[in-house]
Amino acid sequence: MRVVKTVKQLRLIIDGLRRKGRTIGFIPTMGYLHEGHLSLVRRCRQECDVTVVSIYVNPKQFGPHEDLQRYPRDIGRDSTMLKKENIDILFIPSDNAVYSSGYLTYIDVENVSRALCGAFRPGHFRGVATVVAKLLNMVQPHALYLGQKDAQQVAVLKRMAADLNFPVAVRTVPTMREADGLAMSSRNVYLSAAHRAQAPVIYKSLVAVRRCIRQGERRSATLVAMIKRNIESNSEGKIQYVACVDAESLEPLKTLRHRVLIAVAVFFGTTRLIDNVIVLIKN
Ligand code: AMP
Repeated sequence: MRVVKTVKQLRLIIDGLRRKGRTIGFIPTMGYLHEGHLSLVRRCRQECDVTVVSIYVNPKQFGPHEDLQRYPRDIGRDSTMLKKENIDILFIPSDNAVYSSGYLTYIDVENVSRALCGAFRPGHFRGVATVVAKLLNMVQPHALYLGQKDAQQVAVLKRMAADLNFPVAVRTVPTMREADGLAMSSRNVYLSAAHRAQAPVIYKSLVAVRRCIRQGERRSATLVAMIKRNIESNSEGKIQYVACVDAESLEPLKTLRHRVLIAVAVFFGTTRLIDNVIVLIKN
């Protein structure tokens, strides 16, 4: 595993690999890795000749009152984990390497960025789209691997890649969960023991509505109410939103149809957790 810190050094290596005809897969992360990240790494290793992972806590995707300063970081542990996975390149750029002084350029993927989390985290997806566009230009991968856990991020970045003609295939990897169903997240370490014990209610409520849909329920409002009731009556979680939307456009649906994303954001104390399921409606 080569650890690379500058864009110049990365370019040199990538140019050489591309000249040799190697296929390059890329996994952008903010570090503090867990099995969820590693599932992306393993999928990439299966499908590409070269696996590149970046670790960069992107300041431009955090709001002024969000957790940028206290976001968990442990580069030593992360690089040991990635070495064990036999990745080829670990790219750890500094803030200066990513955003030069006088930086002015941003990417705004309209509409899809405004829905769901976007309504509560203004500027978040502008920051995500901007940094991923930059990283794609730096790494020049053939395939980009993203986790379904961040479903809106997938929708935003797929739209961006299509709209801006990035020559990259966007591949989505299913959400990895703890044994009790809680979606793995770097932010789970913030949870108190009591909240950690309650947090699996989020996924349980999603599984319950999925069952309901299989039994024929198609009314969005009924399903949203079910999830809210389930979470509120079984935990101290404070719901930020529950929504049934089209999985691609993220437009709200009154009646479920095609590919539906059912997405939830819940606060346990000050920790905000998100989760989702995608359901295919055949009739
Ligand atoms: P992050 O470090 O949180 O920016 O995440 C980096 C990538 O890992 C993103 O594509 C996430 O969607 C993905 N990811 C995070 N948690 C999980 C999980 N539990 N299962 C699958 N992918 C995940």
